[in-house]
Amino acid sequence: MLVSADRRTGRGWSSEKCFQPQMSAMVTDSSFAGRVALVTGGSRGIGRAVALEVARRGADMAVAYANNESAAKEVADEIQSFGRQAVAVHCDVSSQSGVESAVSSVRDQLGPIELLVHSAGIWESADHTQLTEERWTKMMDVNLTGTYRVIWAVKDEMIQRQFGRIVTIGSIAALVSRPAFMHYSVSKAAVIAMTRTCAEAFAPHIRINCVAPGLIETDMTSQLPQEAWDQMIAGTPLQRVGQPHDIAKLVCFLLSEESSYTTGQTVIASGGRITIP
Ligand code: NAP
Repeated sequence: MLVSADRRTGRGWSSEKCFQPQMSAMVTDSSFAGRVALVTGGSRGIGRAVALEVARRGADMAVAYANNESAAKEVADEIQSFGRQAVAVHCDVSSQSGVESAVSSVRDQLGPIELLVHSAGIWESADHTQLTEERWTKMMDVNLTGTYRVIWAVKDEMIQRQFGRIVTIGSIAALVSRPAFMHYSVSKAAVIAMTRTCAEAFAPHIRINCVAPGLIETDMTSQLPQEAWDQMIAGTPLQRVGQPHDIAKLVCFLLSEESSYTTGQTVIASGGRITIP
């Protein structure tokens, strides 16, 4: 089955079946007004959409990047254009001291971090014949230990101030077998376990939840062959791949008081492709 680009993204396809909003231009919600947020991986993809969406709901925003300073600055500029404070901050999650100095810089410029979305991550395909210790270690260092570093850099102040909302980004790859990229799947399964455990450890004033996306159209997935997109869409009840704003809106729900009795959970956003239990 050939799937057109329009159908792949949902744009211009069935407007009823596939609602494709203009990136929240009409959001009037101010539920995060006065809050300070940090989004890691905010320069691109899911993190970028999250940074814009959270800021549109009133938060002042630190847009963190590893390499792509100009992209992060563009996101920060866009946020400033709708009246919020925003800074781009270098935060390579593979460096403990780098993460700590990023958090300290955000505190100095905007104030203590109250909302954290940790979207920074890497993916690569490598089946068991290609997987090496070097690849394994790099994946764990960025996706898993990076999550630890970022959460640990903010959690004490959140606990002391008796307020904090954290969202981690897992993946459906953590929940089903994915032998083509076992190291990625394992790193994300550990993020889910960390989220669950931190929820109990940091309660009652801190809530932390995880979003597990299915296939989302970003730079990370841009190299997938057309066959992979077609297969995914064929097996997805909502008959499209996800867009970054699909995840951003769910993240906002988990950061907001709309989800006030929810912590330690992993919420799947895969167009119905994966349903658990
Ligand atoms: P993306 O478009 O490739 O963006 C990756 C982001 O992570 C960029 O902002 C990048 O910063 C940042 N990053 C990479 N390595 C980093 C490091 N060492 N330290 C700090 N930041 C780093 O990816 P995406 O699709 O938005 O993915 C975001 C998250 O969603 C990831 O955790 C990914 O595993 C997860 N996810 C994605 C999908 C999907 O289908 N796209 C599905 C499930 C889960 P620079 O721009 O500075 O390089």
